[in-house]
Amino acid sequence: MSGLDIVLLGTGSPLPDPHRAGPSTLVRGEGLHLLVDAGRGVVMRLAGAGVIPPFLNAILLTHLHSDHICDLNDVITTHWVMSPVTVPLHVYGPVGTQVVIDGLLAMLAPDISYRINHHDDLNEAPHVIVTEVVPGDSFEVAGATVRVGGTNHLPVEPTVGFRITAHGVDVVLAGDGVPCEQLDDLVQDADAYVQTVLRADLVALVPRARFQDILDYHSTVQQAAETAERGRVRTLVLTHYVPAPGLGDYDEWRAMASPFSGTLVTGDDLTLCHVDPAPQGLPDEP
Ligand SMILES: [Zn+2]
Ligand SMILES: [Zn+2]
Repeated sequence: MSGLDIVLLGTGSPLPDPHRAGPSTLVRGEGLHLLVDAGRGVVMRLAGAGVIPPFLNAILLTHLHSDHICDLNDVITTHWVMSPVTVPLHVYGPVGTQVVIDGLLAMLAPDISYRINHHDDLNEAPHVIVTEVVPGDSFEVAGATVRVGGTNHLPVEPTVGFRITAHGVDVVLAGDGVPCEQLDDLVQDADAYVQTVLRADLVALVPRARFQDILDYHSTVQQAAETAERGRVRTLVLTHYVPAPGLGDYDEWRAMASPFSGTLVTGDDLTLCHVDPAPQGLPDEP
């Protein structure tokens, strides 16, 4: 299969929603399963996409906000117990990821001991290999090249975005943040760009300081569209909707992305976007 699938596993946010899991996205290609972030309900949504945790080649974390990692422990446990032999689970994330993983494994210690004591064929604890990354890094996973870029989600830092190159396409997972030069650089000429977004006009209606604060560090739909247009991106995928769109509301969200002239993808959990390689131009005349 050429190209890559982007599956929006969870399109929700920290706000509890019975129909939207927390932020997480699957990037899938021939022999490739990369999980980007691991929010609420991620293992259920992976199952919905036909993927169990042992299939994952790696987990990429854009940042350590709770909504993006709160079910990472479930991915670790399920990867461990469903693998016939203990195999490493690779996690790439910003500086601080190792501390988080150490804490999760400490939290899981009782469960790990129960299962090792109970199963004769389970003798090792989960083996999680963490690689902390900074903008400018790149690494290889299962034939894919992943470039790490900077994002602006201040005052939350460090935060990163990922540009995954595999099977003839480049897809960017930007995580949370407002437009910035580093993001512009990361998305330049990408085949697809996934951005978390909010509706500033709706958030502004909620008279609570703690809710208003989120306007500081999330792209609006329009900002995401402008970033995509500046970068000549082919497909813009919106996720992490704040507030969650109701039935029929996507048209309003899509109208706000009018600065973008390419293909726009919006949708509920498990929305699938297949990204094909760009059509090649006609060869030059001899
Ligand atoms: Zn965040
Ligand atoms: Zn978030």
